[in-house]
Amino acid sequence: MSDRSYDYDLFVIGAGSGGVRAARLTALDGKRVAIAEEHRVGGTCVIRGCVPKKFMVMASEVSHSLEIARGYGWSFQDASFDWKTFIEAKDVEIARLSGLYAANLGKAGVELIHGRAVLRDAHTVEIPGKGKIVTAERILIATGGRPWVPGDMPGIEHAITSEQAFHLPDLPKRILIAGGGYIAVEFAGIFAGLGVETTLIYRGPNILRGFDDDVRAHLAGEIEKRGIKVILGCQHTSLEKTRTGIVNHLENGMAIETDVVMFATGRVPHVVDLGLETAGVELNEQGAIRVDAYSKTTADNIWAIGDVTDRMNLTPVAIREAVAFHQTVYRDDPQHFDYEAVATAVFSQPPVGIVGLSESEARRTCAAGVDVYATRFRPMKYAFTGSDERVLMKLVVDAESQRVVGVHIVGPEAPEMIQLAAVAVKAGLTKAQWDATCAVHPTMAEELVTLKEKQTPANVTAG
Ligand SMILES: Cc1cc2nc3c(=O)[nH]c(=O)nc-3n(C[C@H](O)[C@H](O)[C@H](O)COP(=O)(O)OP(=O)(O)OC[C@H]3O[C@@H](n4cnc5c(N)ncnc54)[C@H](O)[C@@H]3O)c2cc1C
Repeated sequence: MSDRSYDYDLFVIGAGSGGVRAARLTALDGKRVAIAEEHRVGGTCVIRGCVPKKFMVMASEVSHSLEIARGYGWSFQDASFDWKTFIEAKDVEIARLSGLYAANLGKAGVELIHGRAVLRDAHTVEIPGKGKIVTAERILIATGGRPWVPGDMPGIEHAITSEQAFHLPDLPKRILIAGGGYIAVEFAGIFAGLGVETTLIYRGPNILRGFDDDVRAHLAGEIEKRGIKVILGCQHTSLEKTRTGIVNHLENGMAIETDVVMFATGRVPHVVDLGLETAGVELNEQGAIRVDAYSKTTADNIWAIGDVTDRMNLTPVAIREAVAFHQTVYRDDPQHFDYEAVATAVFSQPPVGIVGLSESEARRTCAAGVDVYATRFRPMKYAFTGSDERVLMKLVVDAESQRVVGVHIVGPEAPEMIQLAAVAVKAGLTKAQWDATCAVHPTMAEELVTLKEKQTPANVTAG
C-alpha cells in the first residue's frame, strides 16, 4: 500500500547503473517512483565509463589486428585513423543508449527529473535548479563516484581525467597517464594502440595493485612490448604548461613534456553537498555511505547502492545491489549480494580476466596451502607475426578441498574466457572436475583444462 501523504513511494537519486534498475523494478510493481539525474541518463557506465571506453579499446585494437594481418599476407597502403570520425560515431551511439535508458524508465512509469537532487531531511528532496521540493516514503541514493586528483599539486589544472579523455578535440601525439589502476592501464593501451607516444607513471611498485602478482608482472611486461613506457615507484611533483606542451616534473628529477596529461589516480564516492547530514545518513571512514548488508543506510528509510557505497565498484555489482534492494524492500524477500567470486576484466592490451582469489590471498585464507598451476605461451594467432607476446593462465587451487579458488588470464579474449570460468569457480568445482572437462581444440582456453604440472619454485618459467 502506498502512503499517500508522500509525493512518491520511492525517490532515486542518480540515474546510473544501479539507480535505473532499482527505479524500473519498483515502478513495474506499481509504485510511484521518481528518479533525478543531474547529468545524462545512463550514468558513468554508459556515458563516461565502461561503454565508451570499450569502444575506444576496440578502435585502438584495430592497429594490432592490422599488424597481425600483414603476417598473414594481407597488404594495404592507406590504413589511417581519424579521431574526429570515431568520436562522432561513439557519441551518436552513447546518445542512442542514453535515450534507450530514458525511454525504458518512461515505459516502466518512472518520472524522470533532470536536475541535481539534494536531501533536505529523511523524506524530503529538493531539486534546487528546478525550484522543486518533493517528499518520498523511501529514498535510494545511487550517485556513483567521481575521479579524484591531488588537488594541491601545482599545475594540476592542466591535467584531464577519464571524463575529458572521451572528448579530446584532437588525438594527442604524446600523452602521460598517472595511475596504476585499471582505468590508467586501459587508457594507456587505448592511446598507445592509436599511435600516441604513451607514458604510464605509477607511484607503487607495480601496476594493478590488488591483482595477482604474476598478472601484474606479466601485464607490465606485455604493455611495454606494445610500446608503452612504464615508470614505476615515482610520482609527479608538478605540471607546467609551456608553449609546446605540458611538462611533467617527477620526483625522480625527470621532466617529460607531453601534449596531454591524464590523471587516473582513483575515484571517490559522489557525496558532496548531497545533504546527507540533514537526513541522518552517515559516511564510513573511507568517505563512502555506510550501509548494512541489505544496502540500508543509517537512516531508517534511506538505502544506498553502487559506487557511492564503495563496496565493489563495477556495473554488474551496482545492478545486482539494485535487484537485492528491490527484493528486500518491495518484495518482502530479504536478499543481499554475494561479493565472492565476482569476475572482472581489465581491457588493457592485452586484456586481463580474473575471478576469485589471487595466489597471495589464497595463501592467507586456505589453511592447508594452495596448489598453483600456470602456463605462459605464445598464442597461435601470432605465429606469423614475429610477435613475442605471451599469454598467462593461472589456476589457484585450495590444497585441501582441491577447489579452484582463483583463475587469472592475461591475453587475447581473457574477458570473454573469464566469464565462463567464473561459473565454475562460483560453483566451487574442483581441479579434477576442470580436468574432466574435455578441451576445445585448437583454442587458448583449452589450456585451462589441461594444466597438469603444479608450479614449484623449480618449474616457474619467466615467460
Ligand atoms: C573510465 C571508467 C571505466 C569503467 N569501466 C568499467 C568496466 O569495464 N566494467 C565495469 O563493470 N565497471 C566499469 N566502470 C565502473 C562503473 O562505471 C561503475 O561501477 C558503475 O557505473 C556504478 O554505477 P552506479 O549506479 O553506482 O553509479 P553511476 O553509474 O556513476 O551513476 C550515478 C549517477 O548519479 C548522478 N548523480 C550524482 N549525484 C547526483 C545528484 N545529487 N542528483 C542527481 N544526479 C546525481 C550522476 O550524474 C550519475 O549519472 C568504469 C568506470 C569508469 C570511470
